Amino acid sequence: MIQIGTESQFEAARHEAGHVVIGVRSGSVVTDTHIRCENGRWLGDSKFATGKVSADDMMACAIAGCLAQAKSVAESQCSGTVAFDMKCELKPLIHIVRDSDRSGPDSDPGSCDVFFLADGKRLAIHFDGAWFSGADASGYRLGRKSHPPLDFVDTQLIRSVMGELDDAKNWRALCAVSDELCRRTVADGGTCVLSGDDIRKAMSEADSEHGEVPGAWK
Ligand SMILES: [Zn+2]
Repeated sequence: MIQIGTESQFEAARHEAGHVVIGVRSGSVVTDTHIRCENGRWLGDSKFATGKVSADDMMACAIAGCLAQAKSVAESQCSGTVAFDMKCELKPLIHIVRDSDRSGPDSDPGSCDVFFLADGKRLAIHFDGAWFSGADASGYRLGRKSHPPLDFVDTQLIRSVMGELDDAKNWRALCAVSDELCRRTVADGGTCVLSGDDIRKAMSEADSEHGEVPGAWK
């Protein structure tokens, strides 16, 4: 893994790559992704072709960005492999992702700890609720409409995305997309863009470099 760009640019790239890789692996067609700097803050957006996406896949894709960002922060705080602590309490995180007051532009989404395991040690990462953006929240809510309003729905969904991000093949593809996105930096903090083809190329190169069959796994 090569670290490129400023820390927040790097985190924004990992966030978008999280949406992209989890979306593509579940069979969605990504059309483009970008990150840009606005008032000193890095933001991003990833677009997918319209098509039939299941409610669970929509929720998974929406939450994958902030979880990839959290894992990236955890990784930068230690050397070696980092994995989500699957035993950690998810109630505070569920509270953030289900907070319907998030529609207000000035509402504070709050924050919580998210736990990881690294070298047998437990590591707490401060999860800033703003990592789960308004756009992420509306995608998640849209998928959630098809589910009963129960905590275990969110728990299962979040755990499954954590597992997908911890999958070595997925994380390698995610890092490849994120690094490629950072390489596209233009002068003065302009917009870094990857087309759908750029993304598929980066992902399949990362897959085949490690002897994996490229592409979706569903
Ligand atoms: Zn996002």
